[in-house]
Amino acid sequence: MRVSQMLLPTLREVPAEAEVVSHQLLLRAGFIRKTASGIYTYLPLAQRVLKKIMQIIREEMDRQGGQEMLMPIIQPAELWLESGRWHVYGPELFRLKDRHHRDFCLAPTHEEVITVTVRNEVRSYKQLPLLLYHITNKYRDERRPRFGLMRGREFIMKDLYSFDQDEAGLDISYRKMHEAYTNVFRRCGLTCRPVEADSGAIGGSTTHEFMVLAESGEAAILYCTACDYAANVEKAITLPAAGLDPGMQPLELQEVSTPGKKSAEEAAAFLQMEPCHIIKTMIYKTDQEIVAALVRGDRDVNEVKLLNALNAINLELADEETVRQATGAPTGYVGPVGLKNIRIVADPEVMALANAVAGANKQDAHLMNVHPGRDFKPDMVEDIRIVKAGEPCPKCGARLQEARGIEVGQIFKLGTKYSKVLGATFLDENGKEQPIVMGCYGIGVTRTMAAAIEQNHDQDGIIWPASIAPYHVVVIPVSAKDEAQMNLAETLYRELNQAGVEAVLDDRPERPGVKFKDADLVGYPLRVVVGNKAVQEGLVEVRRRRSGQTDLIPLSEAVAKVR
Ligand code: ATP
Ligand code: MG
Ligand code: MG
Ligand code: MG
Repeated sequence: MRVSQMLLPTLREVPAEAEVVSHQLLLRAGFIRKTASGIYTYLPLAQRVLKKIMQIIREEMDRQGGQEMLMPIIQPAELWLESGRWHVYGPELFRLKDRHHRDFCLAPTHEEVITVTVRNEVRSYKQLPLLLYHITNKYRDERRPRFGLMRGREFIMKDLYSFDQDEAGLDISYRKMHEAYTNVFRRCGLTCRPVEADSGAIGGSTTHEFMVLAESGEAAILYCTACDYAANVEKAITLPAAGLDPGMQPLELQEVSTPGKKSAEEAAAFLQMEPCHIIKTMIYKTDQEIVAALVRGDRDVNEVKLLNALNAINLELADEETVRQATGAPTGYVGPVGLKNIRIVADPEVMALANAVAGANKQDAHLMNVHPGRDFKPDMVEDIRIVKAGEPCPKCGARLQEARGIEVGQIFKLGTKYSKVLGATFLDENGKEQPIVMGCYGIGVTRTMAAAIEQNHDQDGIIWPASIAPYHVVVIPVSAKDEAQMNLAETLYRELNQAGVEAVLDDRPERPGVKFKDADLVGYPLRVVVGNKAVQEGLVEVRRRRSGQTDLIPLSEAVAKVR
């Protein structure tokens, strides 16, 4: 491409609304423009970078046996009602109606569609395992869209879902994805660290976040320099052994039959009462997240996470065996009205409810006359301790360090959470019906582009890692009016492209200083300047963006050198 013909609107000024470097540079270097809050138009250079990131992702997913497909963004409410998430997802879910007043949403994630697709098509263990993925827009009505592409309301995600016969199969799929993610971020030129996004306290980590270390990161990470322990601070919490509170008395609570109802909302609607959400202690990651958020007094996280945590009231998940395994509690302590090991963590609105309906630990059963604040207290908070920097590493005892990170990806063992609710089963070797064991694995494509800039820039602009640079080389004739220079530059530009080097020619009638500034701002890894020396001595100046190293080389060697 010739720069004179490109849509490459660079800006000299730092746009006032942009707080972080990646947002500032993406705007200034002419990569993106805002369409609405958290919604962006990707201009041609950005699209080239995104395509390269997606290509790397595709190669690494395919290498592990991933199969690419494409699922719809607009999804019927029925699907989300079936999984129970229509009501618990909360205000982050974009909802819309069609002309017949039927409810739909814009997908924030694709567990529902993929699980139902597999449910309908997979019958036998012979069809498993499956690794299915797609790359598409996601929609989340974030409370605070900010930092440009880092936290958008529309963004591009790669999400892969694994389907296995059993936990052992899931372990393999999870390891494959862990490896794939490590490769993807390395190939994108990012220094990335997988961190536990789960408390180590509860036997084994079932999820990792891939964090790009950067000052502007929204997440705080604790890591150990002596061993490989690293965790999201949010998750680096210790929990008491069993979480049983002998002081709690179940009062006037009544177990009621709620046939076919799963969520507290459905049960409440059925009984014409208010729903109340009970979050079980110490079983699910979401519980810990929300508790950690409450401890921090972090209202922002709190509301969103609370809504996520409400998922945990799902009756399936609250079966006695799970509770017993997670808590190590003796049989007597768990059960349908095992209130001693259920406590509520709720925001004031929920706390203010009296006579509410809450989930019990049994299918088709709920608890009536629940009075939050009386029957349950948010006292779980007191049992929880957040591990801080400087404290001993839970693994090896060395002192923990703190860093900030950008979550560019997350891998997650889902188990049978969705397959059970949505009925995705298969017949095993003995002809017995079993729920499929699932995992989900996301990468924020647009956030990865922003994170790459956070890690690779200087005061002059972006420094693209070569693997994801929009173009590799910019060829700059010092004077566009000088015919001899222009001819040499044109020839070099043509030869580079013929040799498979992605080159642009800055043929604009601008002063050289302007073109050099733009070249640094846009962040081409290499700049080749064709000036008088080229005409007179056949020498061009090759400058590396990252190191600033400049070499004078014979024009005849330029293509070979740059390649
Ligand atoms: P966060 O904690 O930052 O809100 P998340 O944990 O909600 O992210 P996931 O559901 O794990 O995100 O989605 C997978 C990936 O999608 C994330 O790791 C991130 O890279 C990307 N992502 C999530 N939310 C956004 C967003 N609002 N804008 C851009 N990318 C996002
Ligand atoms: Mg989020
Ligand atoms: Mg997260
Ligand atoms: Mg995540």
